[in-house]
Amino acid sequence: MTERIEGVTISHPERVIFADAGPGKAGLTKAGLARYYQQIAPLMLEEAADRPLSLLRLPDGMAGERFFQKHPGKGFPKAIRQMRITESDGEDAAYAYVADAAGLVAAVQMGTVEFHIWPARRDRLERPDRLVFDLDPDEGLGFDAVRAAALSLRGRLLDLGLEPWAMLTGGKGVHLVVPLRRSLGWGDLKRFARDFATLCAQDEPDRYTVELAKASRKGRIFIDWLRNERGSTAVAPFSVRARPGAPVAAPVGWDELAGIASARAFGTQAARERGWAGIRRVRQSLTRPIFAALDRALTG
Ligand code: ATP
Ligand code: MN
Repeated sequence: MTERIEGVTISHPERVIFADAGPGKAGLTKAGLARYYQQIAPLMLEEAADRPLSLLRLPDGMAGERFFQKHPGKGFPKAIRQMRITESDGEDAAYAYVADAAGLVAAVQMGTVEFHIWPARRDRLERPDRLVFDLDPDEGLGFDAVRAAALSLRGRLLDLGLEPWAMLTGGKGVHLVVPLRRSLGWGDLKRFARDFATLCAQDEPDRYTVELAKASRKGRIFIDWLRNERGSTAVAPFSVRARPGAPVAAPVGWDELAGIASARAFGTQAARERGWAGIRRVRQSLTRPIFAALDRALTG
């Protein structure tokens, strides 16, 4: 049996991808997941279209194997578009991107559950347009600590003249996303990300760490600033997560965040019903005065 969704032929539409999610918790099938992406596409594509993608594929659902795929394989359909990118080693490689709902649905047909995006769009790959701080709490730290940290980092960014929006990851943490005009390159993006995270950890060493090693977290929140390198990715807003219950990476308003108790607060049904306003696409840049203020704070 097959089913057509958004012009894409879905094989095994009845295959259970999540046993424990979906309307009435009856489970989310492959066709159900495809329909979710078809319906959320107008919102999701605003952020996810025309960016190099990595796909987390679970062809047999949560019960089977999973693999994170950076380069489209042979047999990928045309609806998942491809582009060539010169990587840091000088070699050209194929990358996938989507431009429409059919692209998202075609990726589901290939077993995709999660979509991960570059912080740059394909027409100007050397000019990133978003900065991401991924707050990763140590084991045992509750969502209260993550929420408070997100609000605190937001305050620090506002002090520097930058306005972020927030996204629940669907896992444990929150991503702060600073939308940017495409004026600077990767070196500046990374420098700002590193220096900002370092400043946070310098001011509140008991609360934050910038060390990747899990052993160095010790009850702290890792501010992962490494999402901001050329070739790195972060989960796309509105992506379903391959975690129990099929939680969604959900943008939330700052006022709304205060009343949210978990990074897994929204599932596919809730995501569709909200049509929400968490994303604020402010036109702003990392300017010389911003870098100067950050430098002063770091050395001061
Ligand atoms: P959580 O709140 O649970 O931390 P998250 O999406 O932030 O959710 P992380 O484990 O912190 O998950 O991962 C951060 C990012 O690293 C992901 O969003 C993804 O884009 C990227 N990533 C995840 N798995 C891989 C992988 N196998 N290879 C390369 N990058 C990955
Ligand atoms: Mn994270």
